[in-house]
Amino acid sequence: MKDTSDIFGENVFSLSVMKARLPKETFKEVKAAIDNGKRLSQEAAGVVANEMKQWAIEKGATHYTHWFQPMTGITSEKHDSFINPADDGNIILRFSGKELIQGEPDASSFPSGGLRATFEARGYTAWDPTSYAFIKEGVLCIPTAFCSYGGEALDKKIPLLRSMEALNKQAMRVLKLFGNEDVTSIKTTVGPEQEYFLIDEKGYNARRDLIYTGRTLFGAPPPKGQQMEDHYFGVIKPRVQAFMKDLNDELWKLGIMATTEHNEVAPSQHELAPIFTTTNIATDHNQLTMEIMKKVAQKHGLVCLLHEKPFDGVNGSGKHNNWSMSTDTGTNLLEPGATPYENAQFLLFLTAVIKAVDDYQDLLRISVASAGNDHRLGANEAPPAVISIFLGSELTDVLEAIENDQPYGAKEKELLRVGVHVLPKFPKDTTDRNRTSPFAFTGNKFEFRMLGSASSIALPNTVLNTAVAESLKQFADQLEGAEDFTSALHELIRKEIKDHKRIIFNGNGYDDSWIAEAEARGLSNLKTTPDAVKHYLDEKNVALFTSHKVYSEVEMQSRHEVFLEKYTKLIDIEAKTMLEMAKQDILPAVSAYSSELAGSVTAKTSVLGSAPAFEQDTLKEISEDMKAAYEAYLDLEEDMKKSKDIDDLEKLADFIKDDVLSDMASLRASCDKLEAETAADYWPFPTYGDLLFAVR
Ligand code: ADP
Ligand code: MG
Repeated sequence: MKDTSDIFGENVFSLSVMKARLPKETFKEVKAAIDNGKRLSQEAAGVVANEMKQWAIEKGATHYTHWFQPMTGITSEKHDSFINPADDGNIILRFSGKELIQGEPDASSFPSGGLRATFEARGYTAWDPTSYAFIKEGVLCIPTAFCSYGGEALDKKIPLLRSMEALNKQAMRVLKLFGNEDVTSIKTTVGPEQEYFLIDEKGYNARRDLIYTGRTLFGAPPPKGQQMEDHYFGVIKPRVQAFMKDLNDELWKLGIMATTEHNEVAPSQHELAPIFTTTNIATDHNQLTMEIMKKVAQKHGLVCLLHEKPFDGVNGSGKHNNWSMSTDTGTNLLEPGATPYENAQFLLFLTAVIKAVDDYQDLLRISVASAGNDHRLGANEAPPAVISIFLGSELTDVLEAIENDQPYGAKEKELLRVGVHVLPKFPKDTTDRNRTSPFAFTGNKFEFRMLGSASSIALPNTVLNTAVAESLKQFADQLEGAEDFTSALHELIRKEIKDHKRIIFNGNGYDDSWIAEAEARGLSNLKTTPDAVKHYLDEKNVALFTSHKVYSEVEMQSRHEVFLEKYTKLIDIEAKTMLEMAKQDILPAVSAYSSELAGSVTAKTSVLGSAPAFEQDTLKEISEDMKAAYEAYLDLEEDMKKSKDIDDLEKLADFIKDDVLSDMASLRASCDKLEAETAADYWPFPTYGDLLFAVR
């Protein structure tokens, strides 16, 4: 049997594989492309392509694909065979540098948010050498960027790479001011913790809502939900254990370092955490992880649900985006240092993040907005829709001392001066205690906790990188010309803390009183996706992205449209599924049961002379609730018809949010009541109890 060290990365055309297989000069070029974004020459690409093909064929691959991430948020691939006909009627296996560097899938079926109308349907994919090629099920997958004929980004990767470049540029300016001459690049790093549900495929296959939408649209609460809290970190069941082992093996083969796994709060809910890496690789890896989770689950007769809210009344699933910035010399810029100078540098980068989060609260909120995540944010299980930063009391005290020119700590007599004094060590565990904060400092990184479980992490990181790049740019602009660097630095940090401290909140984010206080502080509270997306094209947001060349204005407009399209289409499918299930499954089943009750009331009354209480009471209850359910059904049907006449996407999204969603809630409420009243034999699909407790 192979052990982990043998299989780890065995299907990845990694740096070490390239080092071993490529000529020295070619390897150097590839390394320069990875580290500093240098373009690969045609010749080098040809050599890499040939070696990559050779390596893939040795591993049994027969096809290759340019693996990319269109705006749908899932990954796409179109397989091409290495096989080409040779003159003698035989075949040769060919894969050229040109094919490596550029592919040309038909872009017309991917969402383009209007970019398609103005540009050609053709799209181009180009190899992203900063993320390694890998083999998945006999196919060589080449991570690629996807753009239109005119160069507009049609994917999530190009803006992400551009945002990393923007941050690199500005952070380098700042680091130079601190005399870090040996640093040549700065990359953002991410470790996304992924939550998911595992249910038995039999239950899944019996429910159209799960099949069509990934979540249950009906379902009365079971007697046992998560109230005992016996699942969190509980013993992992054998079937789940077998799944996790298989999953780890598959991920390790692809070089994805999945490390921790445990049960989450809700029954059937679990979490996987990888070891962090650069943001672009982490994004690719998270997409792969989600895909492989689903595939491995299938092999075990299970279904992996990645939806943010598969079950009402049970905790939903999120993703915790652990984020930091790291130099190529191995320094984590959010790690408090040991000397006054290192600490000053740390404080400046920390302040840059605080300012970025405050200035672009709306964009961060938008970056996690989706129909699915709307069920979580603001409910008492996930961070509120209000963005705030948790720093922990030690760090907050330090910032306060700086802001107010006060001495810090019991022993200190002097005022705390940035660049002069050493900061105390911040105990890591105290900074990690607050689980209710949407954006928490956890010792040497920030944990952005609002992400939904199903979404790509590309956009939240694109926003974060760009917003921090903007803070750093402003800081560098001010400090580069300063006569006395240390005192200019002190004053800058002081001023920025004063200006942005409203975003710092160390209390309980789930508390209602916080929402009121946040409003008083002027923080934005964008409750739903349509509310949030309205601000995407605000002048300051367009200015941010265009000035750092992360998106052009046209690219932003297209994303605005894709956002709304996705939201409206998704809920449209949910509503249609509900109508179908209500009319074809629920109401007929309840009708059959009530007929039986009615028959029994009539028969028994004629024999006994009085109506039997159970049958009569239940019949009455059911009849009333059926009436309500049918009325709700008709309301939803009518509003769905109305929605067809709304052409303006923003108006449609609002209509869906205000009217359709509330119709859906009423229909669900009355059907869930009917579920509780109807004999189990009659109920047409598995209940919450069946779904949540089936896996052993
Ligand atoms: P815990 O959440 O239990 O405190 P850790 O803090 O060690 O665990 O890690 C949580 C996640 O954060 C992991 O995925 C880890 O790889 C990631 N992480 C740790 N350090 C960094 C960093 N500097 N940049 C990005 N992610 C990080
Ligand atoms: Mg964590």
